[in-house]
Amino acid sequence: MSSSPKIWLSSPHMGPNELKYVQDAFATNWIAPLGPHVDGFEKDLQEFTGAAHAAVLSSGTAAIHLALVILGVKPGDLVLCQSMTFSASANPIAYLGATPVFIDSEKETWNMCPQALEEGILACEAGKVSGKKQKPAAIIPVHLYGMPAKMDEIMALSKKYGIPVVEDAAEALGSTYKGKACGTFGDMGVLSFNGNKIITTSGGGALLSDTEWMINKARFLATQARDEAPNYQHSHIGYNYRMSNVLAGIGRGQMEVLPERVEQRRSNHAFYKKALGDLSGISFLEEPEGLHSNRWLSCILVDPENTGGITRENIRKFLWEDNIESRPLWKPMHLQPVFQDAPYFGGRVAEELFDNGLCLPSGSNLTEVDLERVVERVRDLGT
Ligand SMILES: *Cc1c(COP(=O)(O)O)cnc(C)c1O
Repeated sequence: MSSSPKIWLSSPHMGPNELKYVQDAFATNWIAPLGPHVDGFEKDLQEFTGAAHAAVLSSGTAAIHLALVILGVKPGDLVLCQSMTFSASANPIAYLGATPVFIDSEKETWNMCPQALEEGILACEAGKVSGKKQKPAAIIPVHLYGMPAKMDEIMALSKKYGIPVVEDAAEALGSTYKGKACGTFGDMGVLSFNGNKIITTSGGGALLSDTEWMINKARFLATQARDEAPNYQHSHIGYNYRMSNVLAGIGRGQMEVLPERVEQRRSNHAFYKKALGDLSGISFLEEPEGLHSNRWLSCILVDPENTGGITRENIRKFLWEDNIESRPLWKPMHLQPVFQDAPYFGGRVAEELFDNGLCLPSGSNLTEVDLERVVERVRDLGT
């Protein structure tokens, strides 16, 4: 292994004020899953995204789980989910005993293909998926690597067939689609503040919605579903999914630097594109007109037929030997052993992205020296 300093794929990047908020939580003894930072962080998120209501939670996964519970997803239901994603988009479907129906991506955004989605909806309704005619209970599109999915088309299908949307914007805080924030299109939107995301609270998530009762219900369910009574009284099964006031303090500090973090990530992408864009067989995901990506991760596609035989894996291993972390794109869920029996609609777009795609180091804290090292290493292999 090389002695060069480690370059991570995406590591936490604190701003000047996070620690002050945490110290304030200690000074005021608000060391609880509620308090002024929780309220403040929720307000910051509402103001930034334009969502009318927000609840911060213990993780993005918890937010997806609660969203599906709130929509009434139950055992035997079918939930349409983008196949090309992190497993956390799909796992909550299984928590509820429902069946995920995976949908392929399209090439312009790498996200849920509207045609394949409609095919999936029609097949569910015709009884071709489960053996009985079923209206799907929800649609889960994802804005992968910060690139917005085709929300006009997806929301039009949601409306046409009357199926609610849980929008997985875990990777897309700071991205916009036609000027509107990702996470504010669906009936509910999900954010994540895991350690590798564009901003982090070390672990955490949020649920956004314009529908007040949904967020009120999320808060109720996330706090063990306690009925209003002086004693502990429960008429629903609850969860312990709220965010700590200490971590919400980190979130408030991170919100102050979020616009800067988006610019830093976008500038990484521009740097890579300028330095590698001329290499034969290496391509980047362009930003379609009207879509604005936070470029959470900068990714390349490697076409071995045009690189002189060099593959994605060759590049990944060559970077690793120099202590540089890179990762293949998400392995589609319909190819995962745990979901091998799940229905799937579409072609081979997601599969080909997985075969040839590589995420390059993308942290907002990378220096120009770091970026140069990555670029030189990739170019060395190519020549
Ligand atoms: C990170 C992520 C999640 C889960 O968020 P956690 O906060 O880690 O639970 C869900 N979906 C996608 C697409 C993600 O990248």
